[in-house]
Amino acid sequence: MARSLSLLGATGSIGKSTLDLIRHNRADWRVEALTANCSAAELASLAREFEAKIAVVGDEACLPELREALAGTSIEAAGGETALCEAAARPVDVTVAAIVGCAGLAPTMAAVQAGGTVALANKEALVSAGGILKQAVRKAGATLLPTDSEHNAIFQCLQGGEISEVRRILLTASGGPFRTFTAEALQSVTREQALKHPNWSMGAKSTIDSATLMNKGLEYIEAHHLFPVGLENIEIVVHPQSIVHSMVEYRDRSVLAQLGPSDMRVPIASCLAYPERMKTPLEPLDLTKVGTLTFEAPDEARFPATRICREAIEQGGGAPAILNAANEVAVAAFLDDSIQFLHITRLVEETLDQVEAPTPRSLEDVLAIDAEARAKAQELLTIPQ
Ligand code: NDP
Repeated sequence: MARSLSLLGATGSIGKSTLDLIRHNRADWRVEALTANCSAAELASLAREFEAKIAVVGDEACLPELREALAGTSIEAAGGETALCEAAARPVDVTVAAIVGCAGLAPTMAAVQAGGTVALANKEALVSAGGILKQAVRKAGATLLPTDSEHNAIFQCLQGGEISEVRRILLTASGGPFRTFTAEALQSVTREQALKHPNWSMGAKSTIDSATLMNKGLEYIEAHHLFPVGLENIEIVVHPQSIVHSMVEYRDRSVLAQLGPSDMRVPIASCLAYPERMKTPLEPLDLTKVGTLTFEAPDEARFPATRICREAIEQGGGAPAILNAANEVAVAAFLDDSIQFLHITRLVEETLDQVEAPTPRSLEDVLAIDAEARAKAQELLTIPQ
């Protein structure tokens, strides 16, 4: 029998990779809800192709365009944040949570509260609201499957092992496009250079996060929430080839690694088919062509983002939500050409210094901290560096 799927963030990079897998296994899937923010024409075209029951745009102003593009079909159209959450709460076999940023938190929470299986790509939701999301997972009896390639690799390496037997988690990082740049050279890197990731094809925000290594810092926090081995037992290792997607060391010093092509369809397929395996249209990994796999320690003097993230999660309380919000503001400003590359992490650190927040107890608390941190980061943007 076909399995049902809802996809939050259908028009993004993860969304398209997910739909490509569905396209190649069409008879196995029935699509319930597809969502976007405002890419109404693209969303409507996907909803038609995959015969979705409902298409939702987060930005209500884009609903008329969506309605028009879906005219003559029986596909429901809806718009706005409440509609996103209602669509996310529809009962399905798998919901892929792939909205970018904290904007994905409320819909992801709605999917979790519905008690189904949620394939989580939206790492910012876990960074900002880790404790609350995990509590909601427990309460609803939901299943959270890590879709981020590193966390999916760790998840796979843990199959057949016990988390209590884990000595260390080794979170691999490509190092981004500026891995070999000097501190001086980093001062003048451009938006175009930062948007060219050497190995992965991702949305703009994640690509910039990978260039600053903020992505790895967010993933460190994400790993802490998903795999409770203690922060001191999660280590970041730079691995420029992005073939080993992460590793788990057990207490006997056995190290298990998951390898694969640098293509998000691999971890997404692992989530969609879990606990089974599905075919993907990918070429097999040819290690003789890759040749060499190398590993090096991260340099936090040139790339302070991982240190900032580690300090934020150690501090706890509202710090991770502040960090995430400030980073979203800083990345948007960099993409806008309003600030320079090195200003991104500086702005995040300054915002963390200036905003204080107690431990959030609810989704509303997290969203309030997020809003306050965004406002402070925007204010700091206006101060010349
Ligand atoms: P993209 O920017 O490519 O896509 C984002 C998606 O979210 C789009 O469908 C976009 O719609 C939608 N969206 C954006 N803002 C809102 C909003 N305010 N309300 C509702 N929907 C919104 O992102 P990616 O696919 O690269 O990343 C998605 C998530 O997955 C991120 O959290 C990222 O960290 C994570 N991730 C991504 C990886 C990758 O390889 N891309 C790898 C691992 C994790 P619209 O098109 O209308 O703007």
